[in-house]
Amino acid sequence: MDERKEQKPPAGRRATLPPPSVRLSPVQEAWQRYVRHSLRLCDTCRRVDGSACEDAETLYADYQRIAHAAMDHVAGRAPLPDGQ
Ligand SMILES: [Zn+2]
Repeated sequence: MDERKEQKPPAGRRATLPPPSVRLSPVQEAWQRYVRHSLRLCDTCRRVDGSACEDAETLYADYQRIAHAAMDHVAGRAPLPDGQ
């Protein structure tokens, strides 16, 4: 059996992670970090009352900063920061 073969999600569910060979954009990576934290890794964020923890707020702020920098770049208002 080929272990590199992609596993399919259970019926009725979509895959949540791209294949390992796919490189996400910096904006997508920042969003993925936030979603992974808040939906999977953090018990505080997963509470029914919807309260977010300080780490989630930081991850979301990072996502917004990276997304806004990308939009400014696309609009011709600013160069991308280093590493993007
Ligand atoms: Zn959290």
